[in-house]
Amino acid sequence: MNIANETVVSMHYTLTDDKGETVDSSAGRAPLTFLQGAGNIVPGLEEALMGKATGDKFKVSLPPEKGYGERDERLVQTIPKAQFQGAPTLKVGMQFQVNSQGGPMILTITGIKGDEVTVDGNSEMAGKTLNFEIEITDVRKATEEELEHGHVHGPGGHHHG
Ligand code: ZN
Repeated sequence: MNIANETVVSMHYTLTDDKGETVDSSAGRAPLTFLQGAGNIVPGLEEALMGKATGDKFKVSLPPEKGYGERDERLVQTIPKAQFQGAPTLKVGMQFQVNSQGGPMILTITGIKGDEVTVDGNSEMAGKTLNFEIEITDVRKATEEELEHGHVHGPGGHHHG
């Protein structure tokens, strides 16, 4: 069966940046399983997957606007160290989740200077071209329940208690 909206796709992937460095990969793990058309993965990858079938292997390069978006310098902020009360020792590279107006956001500490901490809310991959190498391992129709929930159940998906 071919990939369309409302199908569940399993695939192996390797993501490299423009320097050829591997950023993320499913190699040695279970394939990534997700619901196509539900925004579970970046938009450009959903587009590229349309019509593909089990066994297909392909490469696709996505510009930032089809990946994690452009960097937004407004998401870089300097906040006083005192606001991190109760947090473990602060280090550059440390990540934590905050609730912003747009929903949960991951902040990364990019600098610490005296009593001031610089945090960056951009995704590490924002502003970067995403180079994916994909191998489709399975395509099936999503169940009614999966469509209702907007995510995959069972192996590689959500488990409800
Ligand atoms: Zn569910």
